[in-house]
Amino acid sequence: MKTISFPDLELSKELEKAITDLGFEEPTPIQALAIPMLIEGNDVIGQAHTGSGKTAAYGIPLLGKIDQNDRRVQALVMCPTRELAIQVSEELAKLGKYLPGIMIIPVYGGQPIERQLVALKKGVQVVIGTPGRIIDHLHRRSLDLSNVKVVVLDEADEMLDMGFRDDIGDILGRIPEKRQTVLFSATMAPPIMELAKKYQKNPKNVKVVHEQLTVPTIEQFYYEMRESDKVEALCRLLDRYNPKLSLVFSNTKRRVDEITSRLIARGYAAEGLHGDMSQSQRERVMAKFRSGVTDILIATDVAARGIDIDDIEAVFNFDVPQDPEYYVHRIGRTARAGRAGRSFTFVSGKEVWKLRDIQRYAKVRITPDFIPSDQDLEEQRTLQALTKIREAIEKEDLDNYRLRAQAMMGEEFTSLDLAAALLFMTDKARPKIASPDQAPIPRDDERQRERNNRPPRRREAYKSPHPASSNRAGPRSSGQRDRRSYTH
Ligand code: AMP
Repeated sequence: MKTISFPDLELSKELEKAITDLGFEEPTPIQALAIPMLIEGNDVIGQAHTGSGKTAAYGIPLLGKIDQNDRRVQALVMCPTRELAIQVSEELAKLGKYLPGIMIIPVYGGQPIERQLVALKKGVQVVIGTPGRIIDHLHRRSLDLSNVKVVVLDEADEMLDMGFRDDIGDILGRIPEKRQTVLFSATMAPPIMELAKKYQKNPKNVKVVHEQLTVPTIEQFYYEMRESDKVEALCRLLDRYNPKLSLVFSNTKRRVDEITSRLIARGYAAEGLHGDMSQSQRERVMAKFRSGVTDILIATDVAARGIDIDDIEAVFNFDVPQDPEYYVHRIGRTARAGRAGRSFTFVSGKEVWKLRDIQRYAKVRITPDFIPSDQDLEEQRTLQALTKIREAIEKEDLDNYRLRAQAMMGEEFTSLDLAAALLFMTDKARPKIASPDQAPIPRDDERQRERNNRPPRRREAYKSPHPASSNRAGPRSSGQRDRRSYTH
């Protein structure tokens, strides 16, 4: 993996600040490669899949080249669909948060053209659009491309598949020759290479090669859920599997802090680790984790680099990683020294595409699974209590306790009453912590209803291997778990 940092890229302070606000800790592999080339002014042809961070890879250098005092269109991004155009526009707006002089608009079919006409008239520097609608504006003369310095073809393969080849040619024909042409595509099939040959000048190739590692001793599961259910799911899985040490990965520093505080609020011994912490803070956190004082560590990919601990029994991908290579590195933290390990990946919304890419590129099989229900957890607790009881019977000197139990039974209770009451008391000993995020994980029927109400996805061809009902957890029980009460 590349270890280039954002400060290494020497971006403007406005861009750097926006990147910090977004919580990006370090450039993704495609960004580390493409950003320096694009800043230098090269044409670039990049092979990158959704979720690789490709938008920021071209978006950061693009925004850096915009003259805020010139209100003419200086950059054009072509996208195959309105969804992508909106998404790119939102991402660029976030990256350009501290560049108030830069106006960005998406133009796509389906939105009344009048609104776009008004916006274009006011003067915008960055236009993100679908080829059809861009052509429409060119015919109406509402869009002038004669001052464009950077043009990006995002998901070029999809645009060709959708029959936009001629439109793309028409549009590029209206942009001055002296321009930077950037092309991103998930595949590098011959038609894409032809496009590059025709419209680019000495393009630099950027391709992130994925390491292939096999980690056979790791059982890998994934769970589809709503974003808001992730903390609850994490707690249930921690309770279900009771791993000795767990490493929870998140994509941004902000989320590391958020997950850590929510786990602590629920009574877990958790700590966060990320790049904003001083060396001594990190060492303190690591020492506590190594010794088991904290048994859950929440970290970003960068911070977790160099963690070399053999007892990590579970790796949680709270967010699906940006890059398949990260996935392999993350899960490789468990199952060290010949031990068995488990990995649990939480998938919500669009993350399902990233998961598909991971399975394909990293050549791993990740099995869909269910979040444990309240009943599963009850059974688990009973099992754990029984294990403790068996150990006590086998290893401890219980003679005095036997006499006392016998005295109690002789009076008014049976042995069954006594055992049941003791189990009840063990259960009750767990603190009940009210937490603000106790929304129940929806049941199968609720999830199905939600899915039915959703608009159809663009890429219908892909069928999730996951069954329609991905979660059989019933409504939450009121009791909170404290796994420390049945650890050991
Ligand atoms: P994309 O591949 O451009 O669709 O990006 C996928 C997601 O990754 C978006 O939500 C971005 O905000 C996010 N992202 C992009 N770059 C980074 C980064 N360096 N670190 C963390 N997240 C990122």
